[in-house]
Amino acid sequence: MLAMATRPGQIAPQTGAATPLLGREAATALRLSPRTRSALERLGIVSIRDLVRHFPYRYDDLRDPSRIGDILAARTDHATKTPSGEYNVLGTVLQCKHVRLRGRIRAKTSATIDDGTGSLHAVWYGRPYLASQMNEGNRVFVRGRIEYTLTGATINVSKHRVLKADEEYAGELVPVYPQTAGLSGYELRRLISSALRLCASDPAAKAELDPLPAAINKRERFGDAWRAIRSIHNPSNIEEANEARRRLVYEEFFLLAIASARRRAERALEAAPDFSRAAGRAQADAFRSELGRALPFTLTRAQERVIDEVTADLLKSTPMNRLLQGDVGSGKTAVAVAAILLAARAGYQSAFMAPTEVLAAQQFNKIGAMLSHAGHAGALLIGALKKRTRDDIIDQLRTGELPFVVGTHALITDDVAFAKLGLVVIDEQHRFGVLQRAALRAKASGHAPHTLVMTATPIPRTLAQTVYADLDVSIIDELPPGRRPVKTYVRSDDAKDKVFDFVRTEVEKGHQAFVVCPAIDESERALHSAVKQANELRASAFAGIQVQLLHGRMSVAQKDEVMKLFADGFIKILISTSVIEVGVDIPNASVMLVLDAQAFGLAQLHQLRGRVGRGAQQSYCILITPNAEEAERLQILARTNDGFAIAEEDLQIRGSGDLVGTRQHGGHELRLAHLIRDYPVFVVAKKAADAVVHADPRLARPEHRRLAAFLAAQDREAALRVSS
Ligand code: ADP
Ligand code: MG
Repeated sequence: MLAMATRPGQIAPQTGAATPLLGREAATALRLSPRTRSALERLGIVSIRDLVRHFPYRYDDLRDPSRIGDILAARTDHATKTPSGEYNVLGTVLQCKHVRLRGRIRAKTSATIDDGTGSLHAVWYGRPYLASQMNEGNRVFVRGRIEYTLTGATINVSKHRVLKADEEYAGELVPVYPQTAGLSGYELRRLISSALRLCASDPAAKAELDPLPAAINKRERFGDAWRAIRSIHNPSNIEEANEARRRLVYEEFFLLAIASARRRAERALEAAPDFSRAAGRAQADAFRSELGRALPFTLTRAQERVIDEVTADLLKSTPMNRLLQGDVGSGKTAVAVAAILLAARAGYQSAFMAPTEVLAAQQFNKIGAMLSHAGHAGALLIGALKKRTRDDIIDQLRTGELPFVVGTHALITDDVAFAKLGLVVIDEQHRFGVLQRAALRAKASGHAPHTLVMTATPIPRTLAQTVYADLDVSIIDELPPGRRPVKTYVRSDDAKDKVFDFVRTEVEKGHQAFVVCPAIDESERALHSAVKQANELRASAFAGIQVQLLHGRMSVAQKDEVMKLFADGFIKILISTSVIEVGVDIPNASVMLVLDAQAFGLAQLHQLRGRVGRGAQQSYCILITPNAEEAERLQILARTNDGFAIAEEDLQIRGSGDLVGTRQHGGHELRLAHLIRDYPVFVVAKKAADAVVHADPRLARPEHRRLAAFLAAQDREAALRVSS
């Protein structure tokens, strides 16, 4: 199963001894505690290789302290506003006080620091150990945010260092890494330094760190990889860091492009299921009229075009691998129905996989109804079935009696087998891992099934060309007729009562509403707050209205019951955690109210907004956030309904591929590269990668040996990460 995704077998076998150091588990090599080990794992770090390739995303510049006099002088310009950014200050402690507090923050240290040009007040919270370190007369370096007070300025210290008696302050660039709870930045820096020290004395490891063929290094004037890695962790100046970054970003893009070029090359060799029974003029006409009977509406032009693209793929001799993008509500399901129908006509079964049970059930109702009009009856396969029912379905899939099945992850359990699986459809594909998708595809025997993956999270062009380069892309860029764009407003917490009144009015008009509270992790505590929130609203703002809470900890039966009551209009207001994020269709709902909207990404909010505006009435999306800075970020949703623009903005803000599904897609993640800002580097790296795969698809030539070994090691370790 693991091999499906990565196919290490395709890589030419290594010759020569591989150095074990990079592949060694960091926990063993550095003798880490289980706690540290699991913190590292949360960061995706298992091996020494992972550790030295865990790159900083910025540096704290601890060089060039500001003069306190200048900081104080700036006060008049800024009035009482806090300037953004942190300041460095170097001075002598004139006065120092340590206070023990009760409550959560147990200690406060305050000191007056003077540098000869002026003095300011420095404060630390929760650092009881400072009492023994910080004394009057010490020379200290401090860094932190400045806040102006009526009498001067206070620096909220985030970093400090007490200097030795006659130490000359040099300052440095301190790398800041992606972090996780349970491992401080300091600890992480120390671990990375230790791993670097191990590599420094291991020439084979240093060489193995470089995946790039020598010819590319020469052409791009790259120094060796080891130097770049050492520099990015420990640059002596920004230029050196940038130089190192340029090389490492190139590497990331290059590896990504190699992976997708090879996936494409492999697929070209795979046999598709034989759909020839459904080919030909007469067949095409029959298919069209059957599809017309199945669909309760006339297709939009965009749907027509995409169905043509998909059916053309299905009749080819290599398997389809197509990504269908279309904004929420654009009607992707109809395309899936068309594909399933064609597969059935060709004598093949289809499997449609959705990420949640609620969604699978709803999709089954829709798809099942449409296909039954065309004379095909399928089944729903989810975890929560009676054993008898489940056994029956499994039997009928095995014998080929069932032409299609809709389900959740339940579809990929071992005992599910198909007589003739020809088509796999994956809905909301970003919710699945690459291995899950591969597992479903692996259920086809004798050929690679046609695959259609669908997403409502629009994938910007840059991302489509980088991370998803091995997929063909279809886009539905038109909504079915008669939809009114949802009106979107961003409001502060103060406006809550007014907003609740508004929701009430909408319900009194006969509409329904969603209220979303972000209990994204569905932890006990988050859930508790959602329950409390629901009870409060029920008792006050929404008194007398049928309000119901839906959350991820409810059983499937409970969730289905609630969704059904909401869909049937018995429940008027559904208060929910993020369970409803995808897919659910309630045409009568006219309000999507999101509390603490800042907790969601822009694309996610756009998804939530897509839950309303599906009927003829005017619909509203109201985003409530306590935070003015966040409100600004959310305004883009008020400005546009264009999912691509929103996704592009999201990408602009977040940048890294990991956040947008790189890892789920192919296992080769982008840690450093920013998809938009570094796009020009991608273009160059892709060209080089395509040339390599074109000339040497198996990477068997001597000049590609290091690259092959690098990929094999990466794949091996990725598989370890998944199974650990
Ligand atoms: P999504 O792309 O979000 O999966 P769906 O396929 O669920 O969208 O379609 C959203 C809604 O629009 C459904 O209620 C569906 O019946 C309806 N719909 C889809 N295509 C059309 C069309 N061409 N004309 C009218 N309604 C349509
Ligand atoms: Mg859908």
